Amino acid sequence: MKTIAELGDLRGKRVLVRSDLNVPLDGDTITDDGRIRASVPTIEALSEAGARVIVCAHLGRPKGTPEARYSLAPVARRLGELLGREVRFAEDTVGESARAAVEAAGDGDVVLLENLRFNAGETSKDESERGAFADQLASLADVFVSDGFGVVHRKQASVYDVAKRLPHAVGGLVENEVGVLRRLTEDPERPYAVVLGGAKVSDKLGVIDNLLRTADRLLIGGGMVFTFLKAQGYEVGTSLLEADQVETVKGYLDQAHERGVEIVLPVDIVVGSEFSVDSDPQVVPAGLIPADRMGLDIGPESGFLFAQKLKHCKTVFWNGPMGAFEMEPYAAGTEAVAEALVELTEKGALTVVGGGDSAAAVRQLGFSDDQFGHISTGGGASLEYLEGKELPGLTVLDEA
Ligand code: ADP
Ligand code: MG
Repeated sequence: MKTIAELGDLRGKRVLVRSDLNVPLDGDTITDDGRIRASVPTIEALSEAGARVIVCAHLGRPKGTPEARYSLAPVARRLGELLGREVRFAEDTVGESARAAVEAAGDGDVVLLENLRFNAGETSKDESERGAFADQLASLADVFVSDGFGVVHRKQASVYDVAKRLPHAVGGLVENEVGVLRRLTEDPERPYAVVLGGAKVSDKLGVIDNLLRTADRLLIGGGMVFTFLKAQGYEVGTSLLEADQVETVKGYLDQAHERGVEIVLPVDIVVGSEFSVDSDPQVVPAGLIPADRMGLDIGPESGFLFAQKLKHCKTVFWNGPMGAFEMEPYAAGTEAVAEALVELTEKGALTVVGGGDSAAAVRQLGFSDDQFGHISTGGGASLEYLEGKELPGLTVLDEA
């Protein structure tokens, strides 16, 4: 995998950069510009090297045709503010407007192409359709830089196929993300604990399977914990439960036992009458969830227990909130884990937060990014990496 520095002199070269600029929007107001900020250093470095920088990205899930509400125009404006220089916005991805903008770009200029997913070829499962779109993208540039970590697990035209068509390099953001993931997988400093939460256990089965081989300790919270409690024979009321995964989870509990991996489950749960702020929160023992109530957070005893279990760890990976943190009465469990990670970071442990909602949770709770070792920009990609899966957008960069 080449780095940008290994591409040689870029002055006057047209460099196509795949970034992850998929930010949340309210109308055309960006409500969290974290991904744009994270993308700036690579774009800036290329611009300073005198390249003609052509940035491409997707926003939301348009179905292969233009839709105004998914336009990257607001992102172009914000990117320009953060770079402190004009960003020319092309109103299409590979059409007239894109060609004209690239044509007009001078050394150091930055162009942003319109949403990649306005083109059916971008995400097509059909190799030739994807290839045809990648040909058009590639024809705009001399070199390709892959810097969208949030999409490197996708076999998509702007991630995978275009790298087959142009000399390519990995951008600094992806390089950094992969460096951190290596530290989690190749000989992590022990004890190594993983905290898993979030909504569904079925999203995370693959990663649990693989972590049972590498982690020393697995702490489970969030909506997925109820499938674990059920597997232990407890009733879980109206909590999120994936009944079809109970047997799989029983298998994991057995495997963990055989391998000497400690599984830590909550001892108390905050239950509510329904999934809403106004739902009469109460703390109950994990084994005594009333039939008509749902678990929406781990309880205070569990927060304390989890903090204790993390205390002497040298490496921690955390994915998934411990509760429905978006609602204030159910945010304390997530806050307790975040606190514990902050303390560990201060003591020199490697702490990694992965997952879009997990990152949003720590920010919403008032923590700053630099209180953690690393906050990943790609939840799905980091989980697939930890699962031991091949990430097409990375392996393609290893090819000449
Ligand atoms: P991430 O994006 O960090 O990978 P997920 O998408 O897996 O996390 O899960 C985040 C969601 O899980 C949050 O919206 C949160 O409200 C929800 N959640 C957490 N705990 C519960 C629970 N006990 N019941 C229902 N939903 C929950
Ligand atoms: Mg999520």
